[in-house]
Amino acid sequence: MAETRHTRVLIIGSGPAGYTAAVYSARAMLNPILVQGLQPGGQLTITTEVENWPGDTHVMGPDLMVRMEEHARAMGAEVISDYISSLDLSKRPFTAQADSGTTYTADAVILATGAQAKWLGLPSEERFKGFGVSACATCDGFFYRGKEVVVIGGGNTAVEEALFLTNFATKVTLIHRRDSLRAEKIMQDRLFKNPKVEILWNHAVDEVLGTDEPLGVTAVRARHVETGAITDVPCAGFFVAIGHAPASELVKDQLELHHGGYVKVEAGSTRTSIPGVFAAGDLTDHVYRQAVTSAGMGCMAALDAERFLAGED
Ligand code: FAD
Ligand code: NAP
Repeated sequence: MAETRHTRVLIIGSGPAGYTAAVYSARAMLNPILVQGLQPGGQLTITTEVENWPGDTHVMGPDLMVRMEEHARAMGAEVISDYISSLDLSKRPFTAQADSGTTYTADAVILATGAQAKWLGLPSEERFKGFGVSACATCDGFFYRGKEVVVIGGGNTAVEEALFLTNFATKVTLIHRRDSLRAEKIMQDRLFKNPKVEILWNHAVDEVLGTDEPLGVTAVRARHVETGAITDVPCAGFFVAIGHAPASELVKDQLELHHGGYVKVEAGSTRTSIPGVFAAGDLTDHVYRQAVTSAGMGCMAALDAERFLAGED
């Protein structure tokens, strides 16, 4: 049923930034409402082991995010399964329209909508999405048991995806457009040592090849970036791991953005170009993009929101 609910602080997003903002603003007695979005727990729910969350040598990404949600709830935050489809920041209280029909009004908003996987933008990639083309090895890797797969990308995500896929696939070819990876050295080391992995350096992917009936992938067409030489790499699965773009769609015409869509915040704070609107995590960070930095910014956003509201009271 359509209803309108008012809150002092509305937090949009349930990754490390959103949940940390919820913990801090709940402890500041601001009774925050957090709307989770389509990916409760955020990006870490599509990975396996996280080895750089302080205090945990190994923790599974989805488990960590369940713990963060429980923590936010235990501190008194209201965590709601819903999706914000539009946001009006032109006047206060700010208004957010949710898919459920609920309208939220808020004195302050913390944006923590994170980032989403980037795609190559090829028509053939679009055609086979869900039928051999994926951006999530954790979600889809199991389907490629005993088959060959290709991963494209050279960052931490691509290397992690490639290593994870070696649990299922007979061979994993990593295609990268340069001759060195940007992934952490420890990850590169594991990749280079894995006998199931082959790397195709200095190649781009021009096309995903496959069949109509059944709809499925049979190979990717790779091109040497300097010589132009073409290599078709046989595979049943093609995993795109070329980074993530900030999820700033909700605010792109309302807030100042920079670096290709990241929400701009004042240096050393989470204040955006509209007073009372704060941004944290991957949505605003084109440099670090880690769980721990996102959580740190979530904390900052809650403290910034608290001070902003106290200044008004
Ligand atoms: P996200 O985790 O991106 O969460 C965004 C949230 O916003 C989601 O809950 C989504 O549902 C919600 N949302 C979006 N739009 C809306 C809307 N309109 N309405 C409501 N909610 C919305 N970092 C590490 O430090 N260590 C790692 O080992 C590590 N491994 C990774 C592995 C993979 C495969 C990936 C993809 C990333 C990894 N990262 C890792 C990076 C880390 O996951 C991110 O830096 C971190 O999750 C960002 O947190 P965030 O809170 O900013 O946003
Ligand atoms: P990323 O670090 O931005 O790397 C993206 C990779 O894709 C780069 O190697 C890039 O090539 C390549 N690429 C980009 N566009 C391309 C295109 N159109 N065609 C072909 N290749 C393309 O992204 P990410 O790996 O998703 O990582 C995002 C953030 O999350 C990073 O900060 C990362 O540290 C973090 N993360 C951390 C962990 C961890 O700590 N274990 C795990 C996963 C992610 P170039 O190198 O040539 O630019």
